[in-house]
Amino acid sequence: MKFLRQLWEGIIFFLFPPRCPVCRQIVDERYQMCIDCEKKIMRLDVAQDNYEPIDKVLRVTKYREGSRELLRRLKFDNDLNVLPALKKILDDSINNEEIVKMLNATDFAVPVPLHQDRLKERGFNQTEEIFGTWLAKKNLQLRNILTRTRATEKLYSLGRTEREKVLRNAFAPIENENLSGKKVLIVDDIFTTGTTCKECAKVLKQMGAEKIFVLAFASDFGERKN
Ligand SMILES: [Zn+2]
Repeated sequence: MKFLRQLWEGIIFFLFPPRCPVCRQIVDERYQMCIDCEKKIMRLDVAQDNYEPIDKVLRVTKYREGSRELLRRLKFDNDLNVLPALKKILDDSINNEEIVKMLNATDFAVPVPLHQDRLKERGFNQTEEIFGTWLAKKNLQLRNILTRTRATEKLYSLGRTEREKVLRNAFAPIENENLSGKKVLIVDDIFTTGTTCKECAKVLKQMGAEKIFVLAFASDFGERKN
């Protein structure tokens, strides 16, 4: 049996060698990026702009090169095979000073919610898939306490002003909960103009939250002009 399994695994490896999810080059480990793509991922930094009422915004990567490709595959092709590569990027930054500081100051995390229709269509909330197990390792709960009150059109083609209009009051608490004194971390996959996270932060503030942090997997921090 063992021999047969090894033979089978050998055949699979030969027919379908593991490939980098970004550039499709053959790699050693299935679902992981190649060294070249790994190197191109631009890592963590802090947003300097004011995203009030958010207290601090961190991004794990820049939204370009490999991380953009991986996130697009996850969101638009529903390809869950890119998750190990995304999680590896997160794991690599788990001891980063800025992230440690932020996570230590956090009581619990909240994912940016999807509208029910979008959730049904995609089958998962990509932000929960990316951050869930990683936050659990840090003993932080990911709590779905916000809901999206209406479906919004896809935002990536919209500029800042339109986004603000479309997203105004698009989020609400699922239940009445008093968050006074709580420090809440919003996690999001892609942080562009910050409008989505700011709207979520407003609701959390209204619920009494004392501090709001944002950890985005990827962001261009508005470097794409719109
Ligand atoms: Zn590659």
